[in-house]
Amino acid sequence: ASAAQTVLAHTTDVADFPKPGIQFKDLSPLYADHEAFRAVIADVVQRRRGSVDLVCGIEARGFVVGAPVALGLDAGFVPVRKAGKLPGPTLAETYELEYGTATIEVHPEPFTDGPRVLLIDDVLATGGTARAAAALLRRAGAQVVGFEALLELTALDGRARLDGLPTHAVAGV
Ligand code: IMP
Repeated sequence: ASAAQTVLAHTTDVADFPKPGIQFKDLSPLYADHEAFRAVIADVVQRRRGSVDLVCGIEARGFVVGAPVALGLDAGFVPVRKAGKLPGPTLAETYELEYGTATIEVHPEPFTDGPRVLLIDDVLATGGTARAAAALLRRAGAQVVGFEALLELTALDGRARLDGLPTHAVAGV
C-alpha cells in the first residue's frame, strides 16, 4: 500500500467531536499500528532528507509524528506548545479561531542561528495553526523550509493560508 492508503486505512471518522456538526478525523489507529506508523514516518523522512536542521511539532499530535521524523532526519526536535506550558523565556503568537483566539509559544534559542526548520502536524485543517506556528518560528530566526501533515482536509484549503510555504500532506480527504 502507498503511504497515503496507509494513512486513510488507519483513520477513523468521529461524528460531532469536539462540537456538534464537526466530523473529526482520528489518526490514533495509525499510531497504534507500529508497521503502519513506521511506514508513514519513513515516507515523510525520505521526502525531506538532507534539507532540515530542526523539526518542530505542534502540540499535541504534532509531537507524536514530529519526534520520529526528527530522528529519521538526524535533526533535533523542538516543540511548539500551547500557552503557559514552557518554562523560561518564550516567544508567543496569538491567532484567530472560529470562535475566539489561541496562543502558541516556543523557546527561541534553538532558532537564533537561522536553522532550516520543518514544521509538522498530524492534520492540516483551516491552516490557521500552521500559519501561526510558521510566523512564530520565523520571528525566532528560523528559516521555515516546509510544512508536513499526515492528513489534509482538502475542502478547507488550509494550504492557501500558508503563503507559499512548501506544503505536503501524505494523504488528502
Ligand atoms: P487548523 O484548522 O488547520 O488550524 O487545525 C487546528 C488544529 O487542530 C491542528 O493542530 C490540527 O491538527 C487539529 N485538527 C483540526 N481538525 C482535526 C481533525 O479532524 N482531526 C485531528 N486534528 C484536527
